[in-house]
Amino acid sequence: MKTFNVPVIYRSPLITAIKNVRKQQDRMKKDFTPTALDFGPLKILLARHFGFCYGVENAIEIAFKTVEENPDKRIFLLSEMIHNPHVNNDLLSKGVQFIMDTSGKQLVPWEQLTAEDIVIIPAFGTTLEIEAQLASLGIVPLQYNTTCPFVERVWNKAEQIGKQSYTVIVHGKPGHEETRATFSHSRSNTPTVVVKDMEEARLLATFITGERPAAEFYDLFKGQYSTGFDVVKDLQRVGVVNQTTMLATETQAIADYIKHVIMDRYALTSENAGERFADTRDTLCYATNDNQSAVTGLLQEQADLAIVVGGYNSSNTSHLVELCEEKLPTYFISSEEKLISGSQVQHWDFHHKQELLSNPFLPEKEQVTIMLTSGASCPDAMVEAVIRKLLSFYNLEDKMEEIAKTFGA
Ligand code: SF4
Repeated sequence: MKTFNVPVIYRSPLITAIKNVRKQQDRMKKDFTPTALDFGPLKILLARHFGFCYGVENAIEIAFKTVEENPDKRIFLLSEMIHNPHVNNDLLSKGVQFIMDTSGKQLVPWEQLTAEDIVIIPAFGTTLEIEAQLASLGIVPLQYNTTCPFVERVWNKAEQIGKQSYTVIVHGKPGHEETRATFSHSRSNTPTVVVKDMEEARLLATFITGERPAAEFYDLFKGQYSTGFDVVKDLQRVGVVNQTTMLATETQAIADYIKHVIMDRYALTSENAGERFADTRDTLCYATNDNQSAVTGLLQEQADLAIVVGGYNSSNTSHLVELCEEKLPTYFISSEEKLISGSQVQHWDFHHKQELLSNPFLPEKEQVTIMLTSGASCPDAMVEAVIRKLLSFYNLEDKMEEIAKTFGA
């Protein structure tokens, strides 16, 4: 896979060395067991895959290069480039401005932009409406484009099945930048509806079967369907694509569920199900799959707690948290600063969107085992900082270099 020029401050020599050793031992990426870092009183189980993905590195490289090459220009990002506060703050400190916040609220009015300005499209991509808005201001919309190719692949799939007269069901968070962009691209080709989870998929199914009166659809799915959506006609032939960072198992479960509802409704068999249900299995992103599979591998081991590092508004990170929470106490932190002491941690409760202070945090026992992973927009340097902070609670900072040497760092 292509390598990118990412600022060295985001790299960690230790993590890079560990990842390289694991890669050499397992080129086909079949081994999802964690890497054990045994420091004696503290043992860290590091997930097999975590951290910056292809799309994030690509976006960071383009954004920092654009800043460097255009010292005399005003540079804007449509919204947060990725969902990591540290990377976004680094860009802000270099003078980059965000036009919108993550929910789409305008921070810089369009009228303030001119044809001389540079506008960078974030890794999530953007809507056709915003592209048109930029063009109307004389700004070439895709000149500085960091849209991830794996997001574009979803758009292409949606277009392909849309052109075959399938309605597109997008499994995604309706307010998320990527889902808004996918929805926009998809609805330009075909009727499109967004479902955020299995519960909404079940609700949608009641309109496929006709169990619920069609008129109720428009309120229940307000803001989540394309203009002119005809709930009777447009749910007869469908395909499911997803926001690339959703829980892979949930997307698959939703696709399987809708497929069976359609098959039952139209008395189809697995041989002819394709007449009304498009096969879209390949829209899951490789990084989401790898990181979630690595957490599944991690969870086969025994540990006292899990720490997941990433931006609090990061969808892919929250899904890693969700998986860990099923098995053991899990702390979702944005940086090592949240590890206040060996007994106190400040962490994000993404279910209730609030930061909590937990105490006690590290159990008192001979050896504490911690599972550690991070989201696709979290720099490896931050994971290393978390390891260092944990070691400091046991006065084990010196052990870091010893472990690093065993991986050739
Ligand atoms: S998580 Fe996947 S789709 Fe999203 S930016 Fe990374 S590689 Fe691209």
